[in-house]
Amino acid sequence: IKTEESMPYILALDQGTTSSRAIVFDLEGQPQAMAQQEFMQHFPQPGWVEHDPLEIWQTQLQVAQEAIQRAAIQPSEIVALGITNQRETTVLWERATGKPVHRAIVWQDRRTAPICDELRKGGYEGLFRQKTGLVLDAYFSGTKVKWLLENVPGFRERAGKGELCFGTIDSWLIYNLTGGRVHATDVSNASRTLLFNLHTQRWDEELLGILGLPKALLPEVRPSAGLFGETLPELFGAPIPIAGVAGDQQAALFGQACFTPGMAKNTYGTGCFLLMHTGQEQVTSQNGLLTTVAWQLEGGPLEYALEGSVFVAGAVVQWLRDGLGIIQNSSEIEHLARQVSSTDGVYLVPAFVGLGAPYWDPYARGTVVGLTRGSSKAHLARAALEAIAYQSRDVLEAMEADAGLQLSELRMDGGATVNDLLMQFQADILGTPVVRPQVTETTALGAAYLAGVGVGLLTQAQIAQRWAVQKRFEPAMGQEERARLYSGWKKAVERAKSWVD
Ligand code: ADP
Repeated sequence: IKTEESMPYILALDQGTTSSRAIVFDLEGQPQAMAQQEFMQHFPQPGWVEHDPLEIWQTQLQVAQEAIQRAAIQPSEIVALGITNQRETTVLWERATGKPVHRAIVWQDRRTAPICDELRKGGYEGLFRQKTGLVLDAYFSGTKVKWLLENVPGFRERAGKGELCFGTIDSWLIYNLTGGRVHATDVSNASRTLLFNLHTQRWDEELLGILGLPKALLPEVRPSAGLFGETLPELFGAPIPIAGVAGDQQAALFGQACFTPGMAKNTYGTGCFLLMHTGQEQVTSQNGLLTTVAWQLEGGPLEYALEGSVFVAGAVVQWLRDGLGIIQNSSEIEHLARQVSSTDGVYLVPAFVGLGAPYWDPYARGTVVGLTRGSSKAHLARAALEAIAYQSRDVLEAMEADAGLQLSELRMDGGATVNDLLMQFQADILGTPVVRPQVTETTALGAAYLAGVGVGLLTQAQIAQRWAVQKRFEPAMGQEERARLYSGWKKAVERAKSWVD
């Protein structure tokens, strides 16, 4: 008879755009149990997207408790907790009570595009780019905080008196998990705010001044792997050290073990995010990509990545399901798309919230071109999947140009990677092999790994060794066909640009 030994586990919280998830991993990186809950998306005006911060916290806490229960383990066996989160999404809460004072403004929200235009007119684009590695776009937190202070009566005054706290979702969760004791963020999340100076590795006083934000709002910036604090004992039955924190895309890069310069991954979730590790070097993009912090391990240097952010990828599948109703659930799209062998010239540009990298056009909107009398829902379904792959090619080309190298393969993850049609078309349209790892929950896995490193129980060498391929997709399309299809896509994108004022 085997005796029950106490095993070490890591709890990963993955607070995404559409759902809160929690996964219990063992130290080998094998998922033991998982729980997930979707939460409400609020669209108060066209182009606006909000979440309820309390619902985010409550769903996140519930799924964490559920995952521990399903794993049938003792809370004391959990040696570390890792957090990964939807990035840029902006929360303001009251320091005295911990109560949110407004709905969270989500990364996809376009309401601050006019603020960005003003800043650009003021000649500040180069300064923000040079200091933060980002472009002036409504995507990032800085202008969202500015909007809140300018548009909600009393906020500016209260912020000035130090009564309010700003945080991205990681900070909001850490604050609640520690019962309000810790107001902190990690370097990867900080690098998405337009407020963090990559060179000094601190919040930037000049940029804060330009945006009119008091420093008292801001969390303390810490390494991504290292001790942030302990969870309140009553939450999980025992205090758990919070030891790893990173934005979802950086966590996925870590979970994919892309640890050396030139290694890259593409995550297909709500949006699509291609990140390439660039080591300790901050590569400045000439092609519309972002320079971002990958992570910092305690005692180590900041490591960087180049990023191509595409706002709508898997979300186009949700739109076919919820907006058009031509499929009942997401997995049906593959079967529907396979009913035709090509889109017959139909292109769908899912610029629902404008276009991100490499175009950065907040005024672009979704477009379908090439429709004929013979076009069917199958053509549309196929065009939707192909659009995800075309957008990824747009950013991969920009990345290869910036980095001056050609990728030998691309590692994939995220919810939409279950779709073999999409994966094969991706390999075809890139002309580059695409590999799907055994664990596609690499975002949560990355958070767990960071936490494991943070408590000193895992090394990067061990993590790299564990990464394993599940399936490899080789390009099978002819060069001419690839060029013909892609040039059609480029024309379609032109039609989507600058659509609304
Ligand atoms: P996030 O973390 O951004 O919420 P996930 O990684 O959970 O996203 O992926 C969910 C996305 O994957 C959804 O946008 C969904 O539409 C898409 N998706 C799920 N199943 C499929 C499928 N079989 N084919 C294509 N897309 C899919």
